[in-house]
Amino acid sequence: MYRYPKYLTQDLEADFSDSEHCYESVKIKRKLSTKLFFDELPSGEKYQRDWLLYLKSEGQVFCFYCLLLQSDRKRGVLAAGCNDWKNSFALASQLERSDDHRANVLTFLLRKGAKTQSRMQSKVNMTKR
Ligand SMILES: [Zn+2]
Repeated sequence: MYRYPKYLTQDLEADFSDSEHCYESVKIKRKLSTKLFFDELPSGEKYQRDWLLYLKSEGQVFCFYCLLLQSDRKRGVLAAGCNDWKNSFALASQLERSDDHRANVLTFLLRKGAKTQSRMQSKVNMTKR
C-alpha cells in the first residue's frame, strides 16, 4: 500500500470545515461530504475512491494520480484541486471514466511494480554472488 504524505488525508472522521465554499450567486454554503469518497458499481457493489485526497490547508480535494502524473496543460479540475461541492460527484465519476485518469493510475502502478521488481532482482543477484 502506498503511503500518502502526512498532510494529505482521507480521514473520513474529519468534519471538513476547511472545505466550506460559498456559492455567492445563491448565498449557499457547502462543504465536502464523506460520501464523495465512496461510490457504487453498476453491480451494486460499494467501493472507496482511494485516489481522492483531501488537502486540508487548501480545503480542496484532488486526484492523487493525476496531480502526480498529469501534465499541467491537461490537468482537469480534480487534478488541480476542487472545492466545487455542488458538482463534485459528477466531476469525480467523470474523472474515473476518463482515459487520462486511467492511464495515470496504470502508469503509477506499473512504476511501483517496476521498482519492486528491480529491488527483488537486485536481491536475487546478491544471493547469486
Ligand atoms: Zn486521476
